[in-house]
Amino acid sequence: MVRTDYNVPLDDEGNITDDTRIRATLPTINYLLDEEAKVIIASHLGRPEGKINPKYSLKPVVRRLQRFLGEKVKVIMAEDCIGPKVKKQIEEMHYGDVIVLENLRFHPGEEKNDPVFAKELASLCDVLIQDAFGNCHRKHASMIGIDGYVPSAAGFLLKKEIDYFEKAVNNPMRPVVALLGGAKVSDKIKILENLAKKMDKILIGGAMAFTFLKAQGFGVGKSLVEDSMLDVVKNLMDISKKNGTKLYLPVDFVVAENFDGQAETKVVPYQEIPEKWIALDIGPATTKLFIEALQDAKTIVWNGPMGAFEFDAFSRGTYAMVDAVTTSHASTIVGGGDTDMAFHKSGKTHEVTFISTGGGAFLKLLEGGELPGVASLSDRRRSVRSSSPSLS
Ligand code: AMP
Repeated sequence: MVRTDYNVPLDDEGNITDDTRIRATLPTINYLLDEEAKVIIASHLGRPEGKINPKYSLKPVVRRLQRFLGEKVKVIMAEDCIGPKVKKQIEEMHYGDVIVLENLRFHPGEEKNDPVFAKELASLCDVLIQDAFGNCHRKHASMIGIDGYVPSAAGFLLKKEIDYFEKAVNNPMRPVVALLGGAKVSDKIKILENLAKKMDKILIGGAMAFTFLKAQGFGVGKSLVEDSMLDVVKNLMDISKKNGTKLYLPVDFVVAENFDGQAETKVVPYQEIPEKWIALDIGPATTKLFIEALQDAKTIVWNGPMGAFEFDAFSRGTYAMVDAVTTSHASTIVGGGDTDMAFHKSGKTHEVTFISTGGGAFLKLLEGGELPGVASLSDRRRSVRSSSPSLS
């Protein structure tokens, strides 16, 4: 059984609009098919909240997988994800074929990590291969519970994700630079604290910058600020200083009268954000500063947009950074839904070293945390006991 993260976006007609996550698991599936295994795919899709809902069926995935695997491989849809009917389907299928289980989240036991559900799922297979990196931060039955009932190990995608991350953050070629953006400091404070000990430089864009500026006594107009984080941010600036990590903050901004793509805008230096205006993107001088700071980087880690990039008027900073990292010689690893989207929209996904397939899981790693879905693998538990760092 391969646990995949096929939580893919669908349009109103149920067509898959981005199949990156399916393509990313093909090396594992093809390897198992070459070994003539019966391959059982297990995944969730959306949030059906423990109830059967045809809107979240994995049927569209079956069609796409069939296209990727070719006619020699038969890809069938299971009636459910557990139970006697599915067991019979698996018994009757041929070695070298694939069966896709129906959405795991149609059963409440998946998200509750119910041991009865986990055991039922485990009873379908001989070995679990964990390849759902994007879900590894969740303690669900198919992510951790199942490991108690069958031997389990990492698939090629999971291994690749962890290897790239390790190389970029824990054992990087230096100088290593983090580019961080997004809305809230509170969401990213653990990441900032962890990276302040590991990076050579941290460039802070997005709305997070305003809490830093306010903590230094600057006015930020109506821009997004978290007053409860002012002391935390001051402490973080101290940690960075002690560790010799250079923090870069924006020196200018694109400001607007309202949070609106059509609003009047202008560029102002950081000390001059007008009281009634809101800063929604980094300005051209900041873009230049950040590009220069990235110039000598051998490794770049990027999470979070530089501005409210969903609006064209405030997207320039983010896309300038996409250009900067794709033309850089540094090894670059990118993660998080919005950052990923910026690369997809710019058509430059192939020009970056690695884009993580996981949002929450990638953030958890950036925080320095452990992924439950990795820690619980029986293969991992064995290798930790024998103090080998190997995943496989
Ligand atoms: P996050 O999920 O924390 O990475 O935040 C991503 C969101 O931050 C995006 O939807 C952006 O629109 C938003 N964002 C980035 N910069 C700003 C800004 N200056 N003001 C308001 N929202 C912003």
